[in-house]
Amino acid sequence: MKKVFIIKYAELNTKKDNIGMFLRTLKENIERTLEGYSVSITFDKGRMFVSLQDEDFESVLERLQKTFGIHEIEVGYELENHEMETIETALISIIKESEFHTFKVETKRSYKEYPMTSLEISKHLGGVILKNKQGITVDVHHPEVTFFIEIRREYAYIYFERYAGLGGYPVGTLGKGLLMLSGGIDSPVSGYLTMKRGVKLEAIYFESPPHTSVEAKNKVLRLAEILGEYGGDVKVHVIPFTHIQEAIYKSIPHDYMVTIMRRMMYRIAEKIACHNRCKILVNGESIGQVASQTLSSMSVINEVVTIPVIRPVACFDKLEIMDLARKIGTYETSILPYEDCCTIFVPTHPVINPEREKCIEYEALIPYEKLIREAIRNEEVVSLSKEQVDYSSYL
Ligand code: ATP
Ligand code: MG
Repeated sequence: MKKVFIIKYAELNTKKDNIGMFLRTLKENIERTLEGYSVSITFDKGRMFVSLQDEDFESVLERLQKTFGIHEIEVGYELENHEMETIETALISIIKESEFHTFKVETKRSYKEYPMTSLEISKHLGGVILKNKQGITVDVHHPEVTFFIEIRREYAYIYFERYAGLGGYPVGTLGKGLLMLSGGIDSPVSGYLTMKRGVKLEAIYFESPPHTSVEAKNKVLRLAEILGEYGGDVKVHVIPFTHIQEAIYKSIPHDYMVTIMRRMMYRIAEKIACHNRCKILVNGESIGQVASQTLSSMSVINEVVTIPVIRPVACFDKLEIMDLARKIGTYETSILPYEDCCTIFVPTHPVINPEREKCIEYEALIPYEKLIREAIRNEEVVSLSKEQVDYSSYL
C-alpha cells in the first residue's frame, strides 16, 4: 500500500463555472511545490489524491501545508485494490501501529457496484478492528480515531489523520500583483495575505547604494524566497533609487522628503506593474503607523497613480502583523538590522498632513520624470528559482 494525502479544497465550492480552472491551478501548484518527489496526483470535484513513497511523508506534508487553496489534508493509504480482504489486512496492520481506546469506521462508496453498502462495510470492519486489538471500544459520537474507508472503482483508501491547510485560493487563479517589498516586517506579511487570495506576486525593491548595503538587498531577496515557498518563484525588480533620493535630499524641504520619495516609488511601481501585467500594487502600509501612513499622507501619495493599491495590513496592529510574520517565517529575516533607503533619509519632523499643491510645487524642483526613466532603464530583475541561487550566500 502507498501512503496518500487526500486534499480537501478551500472556499472553492463558491466557484461554479470556473471550478475546473481553480482545480487545475491547484494541481499545477502542488506539482510545482513537489517537484523532485515521486508523487502521482489525481483529482475529482470533491478532492485531490496525492500518493507518494513513504519516506517523503514529512517534507511533502510540510509543502502541502504551505500551499494555498487547501482546506484540510487527510493522511492515509491507497490500497492495491478494493477487495475486502485487502482492506482488512491493511486495517489490521494500521491499528497495530496506532494507540487509541475508542474509534469508529465511516465508509464512502463512490463505486456503487461494490457488493456491500457503506453501512455494511463500516460494521464489518468495525468488527475486524475489535477482534484484532485489545481494550478498545466503538464510540460513534466522540471517537479518538475515525477510520475513513473510501471505495473507488479501482482502489480503496483508508485514512485516519487530519492536518489543517492554509485555506485561501490557489496562487495564480486571481491574476498577478506587484508587491512593494522592503526589508521590514509589514510588506512580506502583506505579500503573504495577497497570495492567500490567489494572487501571484512579483516584487519591487528600491535600493540606494551606497547608502544602502548589499546585505539590505540580500535580505529582501531572502524574504522573496520565503514568500516563494507559498506561491512559487517571486521575481524581484530591483530599482536603483539613489539618484532620485539624492535629488530629493538636495532640493526638497526636508519635512516633505518622505512624502515625495513615496510618490516617486508609487510612480515607478505603477510603470513596472503595467509592464509586467500586474493588475494591483500591494504594500505594507498600516494606518497611522508612521507619518507617511496617516490618511492625508496616504491620500496625497496614492493620487499619483491610478492602479489599485491593496494594503492588506492597513487595519492590523503592529503586534498582529508581527505574530503573522513569525507564523509565516519572515520575522527573523525582517528584524535583521540592515538599513533600508527610507531610514537613511528620514527627516526629524516629517509632515503629517501633507498638501498636494506643495508636493507639486516641490516636485517641479527636480527633473523627476527623467530620473524615473533612468531608474527603470537600470532595473535589475532577480529570479529566485532554485537552480540559479546559492541561498547561503544571502545572509
Ligand atoms: P515595512 O515594515 O514593510 O518596511 P514600514 O512600516 O517600515 O514597512 P514604510 O517604510 O513607510 O513602512 O513603508 C511602507 C511600505 O512601503 C512598505 O511596507 C513597503 O510596502 C513599501 N516600501 C518602503 N520602502 C520600500 C523599498 N525600499 N522598496 C520597496 N518597497 C518599499
Ligand atoms: Mg520599511
